[in-house]
Amino acid sequence: MVVRIGILGIHLESNAFAPVTTAEDFRASCYYEGEAMLAEAVKTAPAMPAEIPGFIEAMNAGGDWEPVPILITATEPGGAADATFIKQTLERMRTLLGASGALDGVYISNHGAMVSTTDSDPDGELYALARAAVGPDRPVVATVDLHANISQRMVDNADIIISYRTNPHVDRRERGAEAAPLMRRLLAGERFEKSFIHLPIVAPTVTLLTARGAYADMIEEGQRHIGADLPVVSILGGFAFADAPECGISILTYGVGGRSKKLALQLAKYAWAERERFKVRLTPLDEAVERAAAAGRAGRSAAVCLADVADNPGGGGRGNTTDILERLISARVERALLGNFVDAAVAARCHEAGVGARLHVVLNEGRADAHARAVPVDLEVLALSDGIVAGRRGIYKGRTANMGPSAAVRIGGLTMLVCSRRIQCADPAFFESLGLDGGAFCSLTVKSRGHFRAGFDEWYSDESIVEVDAAGLTSPLLERFPWKSLPRPVWPLDEHTQWTPPRVEEL
Ligand SMILES: [Zn+2]
Repeated sequence: MVVRIGILGIHLESNAFAPVTTAEDFRASCYYEGEAMLAEAVKTAPAMPAEIPGFIEAMNAGGDWEPVPILITATEPGGAADATFIKQTLERMRTLLGASGALDGVYISNHGAMVSTTDSDPDGELYALARAAVGPDRPVVATVDLHANISQRMVDNADIIISYRTNPHVDRRERGAEAAPLMRRLLAGERFEKSFIHLPIVAPTVTLLTARGAYADMIEEGQRHIGADLPVVSILGGFAFADAPECGISILTYGVGGRSKKLALQLAKYAWAERERFKVRLTPLDEAVERAAAAGRAGRSAAVCLADVADNPGGGGRGNTTDILERLISARVERALLGNFVDAAVAARCHEAGVGARLHVVLNEGRADAHARAVPVDLEVLALSDGIVAGRRGIYKGRTANMGPSAAVRIGGLTMLVCSRRIQCADPAFFESLGLDGGAFCSLTVKSRGHFRAGFDEWYSDESIVEVDAAGLTSPLLERFPWKSLPRPVWPLDEHTQWTPPRVEEL
């Protein structure tokens, strides 16, 4: 008999300090039910999380099966999800699952760091729903972002949770594919012991890169132990800005014979021993802008990339803060490029005026706040586009990105990409879609926390990237935020935080 696997998920990384993520946000980005979901998944550049096409492709390669597409929705990181939308979506999933006939298993693709306006763990509710649909004995396999805040409810309701192992996240499709053979093993009757350790460490996002650092060491060590009896080691960095009790680094291992338990404990102890490395050092704003100015004078050999890590739309930032922008303008930095500045009104003005027009506009007009001041500028419109971009590198490779109506503008020595939709700048194709060659400038300022590294490594090695201390909703300097629900004490916010490792027998 052909196995029937339900597929569903909700992707949102919630920044509790950002405005609420609405039903419209989800529906405008990715919302598919039933057959429409499968039709999208097989496209060359599907507008859905890459895990799902990866899972489907690998299941196809593994033998007969019947995918039972239920519902997938996803959107850019933003504030807490509107609770009514989440309730309705979960209800809709329940209805579709109920109408889909008997299922042999469920595959969940979610982010794992969502909070709603009323609930700190809607992801846990999603997992409970999937479990209820197949009962206690049939498999539920999930894939999550490595920024997931894992709850006990998620662990209890899934047979296996697989997390990304790359940051920038370039392995999303592979992790979906990895879920398929594990689903087959579970369908054949195998089961694995779970070990789950949650640590009192909320790691600032910039300390969770996987190229180097304590977190990278942990991922590498975990993978060194993978084998038939220990198929999955998931190491979650967590996402502090969700401001939820589930925040924090967690280790999840799955195996048989006890080796997985020892490894979970070893990795947790390592993270704790290395906790100093989860503290952040950023470059002061003046020093960063001076480097860009020097590069503008010296030329490409001194090129520098300023990462505006505090205003990352990929972490809930609004993409419109002005600390760096204003300094670049006032310091008259030459041959500078900045992207993406999100201002739909200015993009619309540029489209009305046309290429070649010179305009006086006010950035952030009517929506200024403490981080995003209203800045009057004289600009020249260099190019216009509808903002639909075929990604070519890093996290957007093979995906279609939608910046909304966009413009390339020049403000003195600064060239800037202004767009209408909130999206993090992580692919040179964004600039190229407006006729700009990113490699021709002497400095690049990106509103992105880390994913830009996989897109712009053509021009900027790690040594030429500076993480700038500017204001914004995603500043890695956690002491600047009015936390409400984080577990406290927690490292690195509270120096006196303590942790006693569990005994292996307790896992
Ligand atoms: Zn992530």
